[in-house]
Amino acid sequence: MVNRDQHSLEHKLSLLKQTYQQNLQKELASLCQVLNAMQQTLRAQLMAAGDSPVAEQQASREMLTDVYRRLHKLAGSAGTFGFDAIGSQARILEGGLKRWLEESDQEIDLQLVNVVSSQLQSMQVELIPSLQSAPTIETPQEMDGSTVTIWLIEEDANLGRHIREQLTNFSYDVRLFNSVPEACQHMEDTSPDILIVDAMAGVGHLSPLQALSCPLLFISDCDTFDARMRAAQLNAHGYFLKPLNIPQLVNRLEQLLQERQSPPARILVVDDDQQLAAYYQLVLEAAGMEVRILDNPRHIIDQLSSFRPELLLMDVHMPDYDGPDLASVVRQYDEWSSLPIVFLSAEMDLGKQVDALSHGADDFLTKPILAAQLVASIRVRVARSRTLSALLNKDSLTGLLKHASIKSAAINEISRGYRQRYSVVVAMVDIDHFKSVNDTYGHATGDVVIASVATLLRQRLRQTDMIGRYGGEEFLVVLPHCSADDGRKRLEDIREYFSRLRFSQGDQEFACTLSAGMVCSIDVAEHDHDRLLVLADEALYRAKRGGRNQVCQ
Ligand code: GH3
Ligand code: MG
Ligand code: MG
Repeated sequence: MVNRDQHSLEHKLSLLKQTYQQNLQKELASLCQVLNAMQQTLRAQLMAAGDSPVAEQQASREMLTDVYRRLHKLAGSAGTFGFDAIGSQARILEGGLKRWLEESDQEIDLQLVNVVSSQLQSMQVELIPSLQSAPTIETPQEMDGSTVTIWLIEEDANLGRHIREQLTNFSYDVRLFNSVPEACQHMEDTSPDILIVDAMAGVGHLSPLQALSCPLLFISDCDTFDARMRAAQLNAHGYFLKPLNIPQLVNRLEQLLQERQSPPARILVVDDDQQLAAYYQLVLEAAGMEVRILDNPRHIIDQLSSFRPELLLMDVHMPDYDGPDLASVVRQYDEWSSLPIVFLSAEMDLGKQVDALSHGADDFLTKPILAAQLVASIRVRVARSRTLSALLNKDSLTGLLKHASIKSAAINEISRGYRQRYSVVVAMVDIDHFKSVNDTYGHATGDVVIASVATLLRQRLRQTDMIGRYGGEEFLVVLPHCSADDGRKRLEDIREYFSRLRFSQGDQEFACTLSAGMVCSIDVAEHDHDRLLVLADEALYRAKRGGRNQVCQ
């Protein structure tokens, strides 16, 4: 699977490179033609032995400025596609031309044009030895994101079935074995994402299962240092005492899974050079990222809202709008004020780089850039920004958005739904009689209940849905592109699953329920996001008054 992807990536890269080479040939030929024409004009003027008219001088200057711009672009892209020598020659030539154009108000003379022309010809010669090898990119290990398989080794058949039933409520696929050898028999054909073993099933026989290289959790009724040490020596990722606190176990499972399946980084690429943009896309996608190319800078804010990138990779010089100006526009929106922006440009001028940074960019990478270097710098930035944003916006108990973040995300999404005419469902979810859970079983157990609502919401809603902890035991959920019927079904499903969970405190077991109030944007005449939040809250109140454990609309 990975090999075939890698193969097709190399194939795509080499196709891109071939197309680039063809365009490069054309571009160099066309530049040579421009220079040729200039040479002819200047020679004719020399023959006529008079001063060239001002208009003609102006025209030559403009032509040369255009040549400079095209060389600047070439200097940035050629190296990226593996034409290093041409890239550096273009870089030297554009630098020289730039200095000449900036510092000199002399007439453009034949000598200068001759020099440029001969350099361009030698670049054409460089191009003849054909394609170099495509860059290689590290492909991350793939992980199946759909169902999570858990192997549970439990001798006590009743307990095993109980745990399996509870974990199934959290959408895990649980296979039950009553001994280590029995599980070992299945290692040939399948393997789990996580292994849970009852220490009673024989810690001493575990070694063959370690070949599974998946996280290992122990359940045990023995809370001694020695027993815990044996688990640690077997690299256990957790040790859970009986009677088992299932939500606590689920929290740990979710943590482990999140570490292994952090979602792909989303990158929005803005570059007027379509080929370069396609190249970045290919390289970053091969490294497991999700990439979109912005085709029209005027749509940048809509693209940000619909794609929600974690990083913006932007060219500095573009024909219609400069990168730094576009960055300033992005920064005008609170929502995007901390989105990492990285400029990728052929600009070597330090002053200009600093200028771009002062417009709100976070980093400046210079073209040409090697594939591996690009991937590495983007990975680091995205990881750092994820950590920061989790600290700022996420609630530590549930990992969900905090009050202010979910509220502003909700307002943005509702407004966008109105603008683009799609329906958005907004719902408030609240745990029933939660105060008595705290009073009866203690605050810590209450926390476990809150965390399991969060886990259920995350598991049973879509990736694109937004979930936040709105208050203590109250959650705000926003479902874009969702009809009232669909929203209701999803919430009913969550309500139903939650009521089936069993929580425990000591040897007492208990269950909880939740209520939800929802509203669908198209059912409300006024286009007012605050009104929608109020209506969802009123619906929640009706659900509570109507007897709780229900969804009201
Ligand atoms: P209702 O069915 O009407 O929603 O009743 P309720 O008891 O759930 O609602 P109420 O708003 O009266 O009580 C909510 C309780 O949630 C009060 C508060 O102490 C508790 N709470 C708030 N935040 C937390 C938290 O982070 N952890 C725990 N354990 N309890 C919390
Ligand atoms: Mg409540
Ligand atoms: Mg409440």
